[in-house]
Amino acid sequence: MSSFDFTHLEKSVIEMSKIIRKPDFLTYFKKFSLVDATNSQVTLGVLSAFHKDNLSKKFYSEIKQAIKTELPSVELVDFVVDDRIEIRPETEVVDCRMLLKKSEKQTKKEQVQGVEVVQGINSRIISDRYQLSNFIVGPSTQLAHAACEAVARKPGASYNPLYLYGNVGLGKTHLLQGTANAIRSKYKNLRVVYTTTDKFITDYVSSVKSHSVDKLQDKFRQVDVLVLDDVQFLAGKKQTQEALYNIFNILYEAGKQIILSGDRPPKELTELEARLQSRFEWGITVDVGAPDYETRLAILQEKARAREFLLPQDVAEFIAENVTENVREIEGVLNQVIAEYDLRGTPPTVENIAMRLSKLAITPLTASTTTSRTLRSTTTCSYEDLIQTVSLHFGVEIRTLLSEDRRKENMIPRQVAMYLLKNRLNFTYERIGNIFSGRNHTAVMYSCKKLEQIMKKDQQVVHELNIIRDKLGI
Ligand code: ADP
Ligand code: MG
Repeated sequence: MSSFDFTHLEKSVIEMSKIIRKPDFLTYFKKFSLVDATNSQVTLGVLSAFHKDNLSKKFYSEIKQAIKTELPSVELVDFVVDDRIEIRPETEVVDCRMLLKKSEKQTKKEQVQGVEVVQGINSRIISDRYQLSNFIVGPSTQLAHAACEAVARKPGASYNPLYLYGNVGLGKTHLLQGTANAIRSKYKNLRVVYTTTDKFITDYVSSVKSHSVDKLQDKFRQVDVLVLDDVQFLAGKKQTQEALYNIFNILYEAGKQIILSGDRPPKELTELEARLQSRFEWGITVDVGAPDYETRLAILQEKARAREFLLPQDVAEFIAENVTENVREIEGVLNQVIAEYDLRGTPPTVENIAMRLSKLAITPLTASTTTSRTLRSTTTCSYEDLIQTVSLHFGVEIRTLLSEDRRKENMIPRQVAMYLLKNRLNFTYERIGNIFSGRNHTAVMYSCKKLEQIMKKDQQVVHELNIIRDKLGI
């Protein structure tokens, strides 16, 4: 039988980076060497006693699980402090951070490539996870879903364009991709292109650089169904708007279907040219609203079923009652519940979910005695409280605080809010990004770092931050 080798080690570290929360991974996973290995036992060298302790106590089962995906016969993993780790050649040491960066780059590249539908246009339908049939319909999404179905039945015939709008995490992308998937399977020869607005902007900008704008427009001319997600990102991109306007007209006049989504109704896209705004309203505009309790419960049960995970009824109800903001958050909680079960064998109970929610700073509403006791001792401040307090303190409207607005006077209040969410409420960069208009997590990370730099130089900012912390008791 083969024994565990260095390539196995590299691959299992990539696996670890997927199952361990990123902040934990970055803190505790630094360097590994392979000190000793057989087919059933692996001894890993680490930097220090601190790492040895933490890795063996906190992450043992995850590490073992990752190693076993490479070599299933491994039963025992242990750690020793490897004094020579810093002077060993590169080929004998896994640098976890570097490896993570490399693998992230790789995945990004794969995702961005998408499927080439028309020569030179990549459709980014990456998953058939999103179907109209696995979208759970509730009162707030009934109309949107029905419109998507009508469009999927006969693209170009009924509602053109179809424009869906709503807050982040409520299912717009799911509906858009579901519609695109339905059309693709029903009309095999139609060329369906799904693209994000970000991608569209990038494509346009590079066509300008290479003097091939005409070519880009010609390519879009061949599209039968154009699906464009998150058009609010066109704000301030005048030339791209112009290009889209032309493409829109060509497709529309040829009776081709156009499907769009945005975070608000066309009328409120004030930074878009009026003629584009009005085009977006030509067909039908439908709101994708937040699901009510019954729908949240049904979504949760459906997602659990799809993952073949048995979720006890009381737990499902508890989550549905307390995670009310958006569906992505509901999925996030479910993912964690499943991971806890798979990795640690912890079964989902209302108590341990309540603990988890309180760590995520979601304040449960349910007053079941034991849980509310646990919660009161751990959670005092929700993220809504935090945002509101920062908004009042600096006199910046909540809407502006959360928006993409880049005016200088709003930068520090926004950075303060992000910084506190990260450092006092332990929110992930991703989650903060979602709250702030769906920003990318790296943008959030940058803002937090920026504030740290400012605080080093400017005592006033530190003072303001402390006042806010006092008000919130965090
Ligand atoms: P948006 O594009 O509006 O930000 P997404 O479409 O990305 O939201 O939805 C976030 C997640 O929630 C996705 O994984 C999606 O599948 C899921 N989701 C949202 N609404 C529903 C629903 N009604 N039924 C099933 N899944 C849903
Ligand atoms: Mg989306």
